[in-house]
Amino acid sequence: ASIFSNVKMGPTIEVFALTKRFSEDTNQNKVNLGVGAYRTDEGKPWVLPMVKTVENQISADMTLNHEYLPVAGLPAFRTAASALILGKDNPAILENRVEGIQVQGGTGGIRLTAEFLKRNFGSDVVYVSKPTWGNHKTVFSHAGFSQIKEYRYWDAKNLGVDFEGLKEDLQNAPEGACVILHAVAHNPTGNDPTMDQWAQIADIIEARKLFPLLDCAYQGFATGDLEADAQVVRYFVKRGFELFIAQSFSKNFGLYNERIGNLCIVTKTPDVIPQIRSQMEIIARTMWSNPSHHGARIVAMVLANPAYFEEWKSQVATMANRIKEMRQMMFNKLRQKKVPGSWNHILQQIGMFSFTGLTQDQSRVMVEKHHVFMLLNGRISMAGLTTKNVDYVVDAIQDAIS
Ligand code: PMP
Repeated sequence: ASIFSNVKMGPTIEVFALTKRFSEDTNQNKVNLGVGAYRTDEGKPWVLPMVKTVENQISADMTLNHEYLPVAGLPAFRTAASALILGKDNPAILENRVEGIQVQGGTGGIRLTAEFLKRNFGSDVVYVSKPTWGNHKTVFSHAGFSQIKEYRYWDAKNLGVDFEGLKEDLQNAPEGACVILHAVAHNPTGNDPTMDQWAQIADIIEARKLFPLLDCAYQGFATGDLEADAQVVRYFVKRGFELFIAQSFSKNFGLYNERIGNLCIVTKTPDVIPQIRSQMEIIARTMWSNPSHHGARIVAMVLANPAYFEEWKSQVATMANRIKEMRQMMFNKLRQKKVPGSWNHILQQIGMFSFTGLTQDQSRVMVEKHHVFMLLNGRISMAGLTTKNVDYVVDAIQDAIS
């Protein structure tokens, strides 16, 4: 017998299991609305032309090499990424109280935050929205947080944000607890608080002395406008919070498997930045030693060149706009086909996902009977819809809820 014979089988990772089932499924009508990855109207992944241009330059450049990066990552990338989310003239940047650490996607920034807080902030309580992106809880618990708490977020009856519940739960959070906030385009619900509600959330976080981690995986994806999608982050910085922002470039650069992210650190004063960076480096050194170069190089080259930046912005808008069109089209078809329900929530939601309101049983019918792969909590990726499959999906919804 193996020395590992007592190793237990863990739970499956739903979204990856769905992708595998989808690729093995031989049904002609199959649709993948599981994974949050952009697809063209042909249902294909899209390498952004701007990314391709820069990649060609990189591969033609004989002066580049594969030397190790610094532990905290590529300096040009970290600076440009922080400026993208905060705005380059943000007082926090001008006052030298911002640092960026290159990490493995948004996930890496969340993990690094959890490890850092656990070791240097004496905190082991985290609050996540109910529901939230499936990995938030597991990342924090694997980093040693003993209390993974939920604050109410989704009102399943009214298909919107349960703002009273949210406020009540955050008001009861203990001082020093970390609160994960979705900076834009909440995953999985697609419902964000209004700016007025964000102001009230900030009041509670300030009064209760909570620590905000802003998870920003969708800058540009929600509205198609990078500035508009940064407004919650900038509002919190303006209010004077010390906070971290886990930025991901998976979606807005289409660099999913390059694992590129920036943990942007904003403090009240510049003097603490070197200590924080040094502790971050120690953790990074033990987890991945130093990050990979390719994605960072691409992002840095695009953000540093005004012409490239403009081109990339328009490609981000192309993705956001196709998703918005699919939202509208799905809504129209649901109405035309008189599928029971108002479906207004589909239009109110923003970003890559829609929380359809389908129950677990109905979602299961979508997957098992109709080969429409979606999460059992009712979440669909709008990016998986196309002008060709939207009728099929709406008919499947009609069948599932009848
Ligand atoms: N946070 C949220 C809210 C997400 O939706 C995602 C990606 N699905 C991530 C973080 C992780 O992003 P990455 O793939 O860059 O690690």
